[in-house]
Amino acid sequence: MSLERPVRVRFAPSPTGPLHIGGVRTALYNYLLAKKHGGTMILRIEDTDQNRFVPGAEAYIRESLKWVGIEIDEGPEQGGPHAPYRQSERKPMYRQYAERLISEGLAYYAFDSEDDLEQMRKRLEASKMQPAYDSISRMSMKNSLTLSADEVKERLDRGDNYVIRIKLPRKEEVRFHDVIRGWVVVSTNTMDDKVLLKGDGMPTYHLANVVDDYLMGISHVIRGEEWLPSAPLHVMLYRFLGWEENMPEFAHLPLLLKPEGNGKLSKRDGDRLGFPVFPIDWTDPTTNEKSSGYREAGYYPEAVANMLALLGWHPSDNQELFSMDELIQAFSLDRVSKSGAKFDLNKAFWFNHQYMNKKSVSEIYDAIASIFEGKFGTIDRNYAETIIGLLREKVQFANEIPAAAAYFFVEPTKYDEDVVAKKWKPETNQLLLDLGVYFQKNAASNPAEYEQQFKNYCESKGIKTGEILQPLRVAVSGQPVGPPIFDMLALLTLPVVMNRLTNCTNTVKL
Ligand code: GLU
Repeated sequence: MSLERPVRVRFAPSPTGPLHIGGVRTALYNYLLAKKHGGTMILRIEDTDQNRFVPGAEAYIRESLKWVGIEIDEGPEQGGPHAPYRQSERKPMYRQYAERLISEGLAYYAFDSEDDLEQMRKRLEASKMQPAYDSISRMSMKNSLTLSADEVKERLDRGDNYVIRIKLPRKEEVRFHDVIRGWVVVSTNTMDDKVLLKGDGMPTYHLANVVDDYLMGISHVIRGEEWLPSAPLHVMLYRFLGWEENMPEFAHLPLLLKPEGNGKLSKRDGDRLGFPVFPIDWTDPTTNEKSSGYREAGYYPEAVANMLALLGWHPSDNQELFSMDELIQAFSLDRVSKSGAKFDLNKAFWFNHQYMNKKSVSEIYDAIASIFEGKFGTIDRNYAETIIGLLREKVQFANEIPAAAAYFFVEPTKYDEDVVAKKWKPETNQLLLDLGVYFQKNAASNPAEYEQQFKNYCESKGIKTGEILQPLRVAVSGQPVGPPIFDMLALLTLPVVMNRLTNCTNTVKL
């Protein structure tokens, strides 16, 4: 990869709705490359398609990027030497390029109505040809290649509707190099004369994208695989506009695939399998439909960034946990794979769990204090932090801890039925009550004391510890599994343990 030019990359979303998590990955790879080479990360809003504009989408995109930890150097909020960074605000800049192409015979005016286009499509389909507006079909349409100069002038003066189309040559090979895919070769015979400037004077995606990448000095175009078919046209535009020397390097990223591996990860997959496909919650402004986000589901942004980085890119060793700084150091486009990356929900959980374990109990408490209080009223911070320390291993998300901790606040009234069925014998209740008395007599208070006394007690009764270990847990918490039992007893304190043993033995009757 030639890095003589300063690295300037852009993330160029269209504000047509919430940003898909795959889009966040695209932004992340751009960001990592920029930061690795001391370059510039640009956010450019591609809002030339006014019909698809969705209010709130741009703010959503910006907030999502911020949340994941992607910092923008130049963009609509930050400004910069190439402002404005919203294409709708750059509208007057594009026409000159389309007109220049016309004057050089590389583009043309087309006056065809919707009806004309529909007829053309039908005609070509009927003769089993590609229904494209191309180097052959354009000769039977209403454009400045077929109409006389006078008529063209007349139509323009009259204010007839028109678009400007690129005039692609016949039988020319378009070759370009993609950092991820290698050489791509396409014949212009398979391409159509795409519209560059629309009737309302707005550029299409293709013209605006190429003009802006050029004007903004973009060195690398890193974007999703769905844009690969547009790349040959973009290469032709660079050639026609005389900008080939400054053409950015292309890198088309592999798709994010469904967990089963077939097809692109969609919102429906997320709904079906219970995971978000958007970074943060989104409510559609027209339908009010809600889509859930990673942030609100309780994921840490560091975990999401780490997970996304590894969906398509592989480090040179087997390291899996990367801070953003480590990702920046390790990232390179040549380790991005061509084939699609399967989304793995268990891996997403795993990443989140790893990052939760890096937090202090006090940080975790701050994040979930309101959930605790909503469930159990005012609680003691130290008590809650100790519980967090005991339960964090058992959950994937911090927000699961309060529900899992219920028995630390509320005495159980139900006792796990399986354990009762399997482990309770006629003498179990009495053994548990005697154990309580034994703890009391020996004034157990810390986990080590509980453990030692428990062992001594079992020995004195001539029973194996396994006989009453699980009944003890169930009697005190109601649950078959949980944190280390003697820590749990010590935290609950002796009077509570005693009380629970009594209540359980009064309730569980064989
Ligand atoms: N506006 C395009 C999008 O929405 C940008 C594609 C590109 O990066 O060139 O994804």
